[in-house]
Amino acid sequence: MKRGIVHRWWWLALLVLLGALARPLFTLWKGAHTGDGLLPATPAGTADDISRLNATPIDSVVRVVNDTDSAIAQLRDLLTYARGRGLPVSIAGARHSMGGHTIAPNGVQIDMLPFKRMSLDTATMVLTVGAGALWSEVIPYLNGFGRAVRVMQSDNAFSVGGSISVNCHGWQHNSPPIASTVIAFDLMQADGSVVRCSREENRELFALALGGYGLFGIILEVELATVPNEVYTYHRMVMSSGEYVKHYAGRVDADSNVRMVYGRLNVNAEDFLERAMLHWFSYDSPAERTSRLDEPGLEEVKRSVFLGSKDDDYGKRMRWNSEQAFTKTRIGSRITRNQVMNESPALYMNRSPGRTDVLHEYFIPRAQFNGFISALQRVVPAHGQDLLNVTIRNVYRDEDTFLRYADDEMFAFVMFFNQAMTDAAETDMRALTTELIDAALGLGGTYYLPYRPHATHEQLAAGYPMAGDFFARKRIYDPDDRFVNKFYLNYGRTGHRP
Ligand SMILES: Cc1cc2nc3c(=O)[nH]c(=O)nc-3n(C[C@H](O)[C@H](O)[C@H](O)COP(=O)(O)OP(=O)(O)OC[C@H]3O[C@@H](n4cnc5c(N)ncnc54)[C@H](O)[C@@H]3O)c2cc1C
Repeated sequence: MKRGIVHRWWWLALLVLLGALARPLFTLWKGAHTGDGLLPATPAGTADDISRLNATPIDSVVRVVNDTDSAIAQLRDLLTYARGRGLPVSIAGARHSMGGHTIAPNGVQIDMLPFKRMSLDTATMVLTVGAGALWSEVIPYLNGFGRAVRVMQSDNAFSVGGSISVNCHGWQHNSPPIASTVIAFDLMQADGSVVRCSREENRELFALALGGYGLFGIILEVELATVPNEVYTYHRMVMSSGEYVKHYAGRVDADSNVRMVYGRLNVNAEDFLERAMLHWFSYDSPAERTSRLDEPGLEEVKRSVFLGSKDDDYGKRMRWNSEQAFTKTRIGSRITRNQVMNESPALYMNRSPGRTDVLHEYFIPRAQFNGFISALQRVVPAHGQDLLNVTIRNVYRDEDTFLRYADDEMFAFVMFFNQAMTDAAETDMRALTTELIDAALGLGGTYYLPYRPHATHEQLAAGYPMAGDFFARKRIYDPDDRFVNKFYLNYGRTGHRP
């Protein structure tokens, strides 16, 4: 009799346990099976970018060879061909911009990716690198010398040319955008001439082509300053989002050993953006020259947790809680700078046909941090879009580029949406984006230009008061409009409205 009761209790406990595990296990299973990795191919004769919302007929794609002299000859021939036929030319790196920035309708697209030779001057520690090299190629190369990239995005999938042409930034603490790390580059202009641009030579072109979205010429070899690879100690703190700036000042501003920092906000509905996690890495010691670069661990689990949060509020809560629990176990652990920066976005990018990822990014003055969170809390839930992630980084004043987004320290809010590829979703995303841009502008901030072309002309002029001058100078350096892309067609030519 007693054994029978114990037996029944066992079954009951097992059922309760299975009941408790069923939802998270289902969410993980769903995440693991979201998207089959087979996105439809870009139709023949067209070019597109990572958004898959820009398929556009083009004349041809030319892959640049990886030898500098041959590449220069090849690109000169290409420009002659384009001039002879009156064709526009666009330039593509890894094509992770989302507004057709790499596409000229009916034009020739230059695929820079094969152009990726690199060498490190071990006296000056300056890296000379072909603009087509990806960070995933640069990081292991520098790692072999005990060196690291000074500023780049939070992921490694982007090309050097694409990164400097949008003037990217990342988690590198208290750092201006990447232009601050560019010493010089060679630029092929529309007439085929190659000029060296630096702070001393062709300074105006230097400032225009950095963050110039491929409108001033083809960036060939780039000289980048590097920094030592170092071992960092990981720290993290959980707080209410309203106290983020206070804790940021106490933990990060107050510690001169901090090297990399990012914040994250929760995105589940019940307390939307009310909670924050601050993650930071502080200097521990120099890294061994022989430091290994490992494959990031638990990839499939992390991807399942992330994708399990798609269109699923339970999944969003589960992701927040599991991230909080997992990162707690990592506090005090040591990791090299190169390891931190060598993460691929494949971990979280969309693989479902019929849906796509859309990024937004807003640069907000520190004093307006909480005001922008309130705006997000008001605007985002009023739309039907699936916000999967918000990260926060700081970026310092940009002293180098013409089309600047940071005239002072800014907190960058990077928002990652998963959007249906339908007209209705696109219309809603446009409305959401313009409302958020208005909110950012109203707080003295601005928005980032490599993403979807939803900003109005008035918003571009308000967020980038120098934009009119930028496009006027483009026409001085490239009077025949040889270098064209959809960003230019949308915003740089009067009469064309997005
Ligand atoms: C998942 C994801 C995460 C991101 N994270 C960040 C981030 O953390 N921080 C950040 O700042 N940005 C981020 N971005 C934006 C990203 O930095 C830009 O989209 C960047 O342009 C990507 O590099 P790419 O090689 O794909 O450039 P592409 O999209 O290929 O090109 C971008 C622009 O650069 C021009 N260009 C490319 N190569 C050359 C060249 N050799 N000469 C002249 N012009 C050239 C192109 O014509 C185009 O206008 C992210 C984007 C995605 C999709």
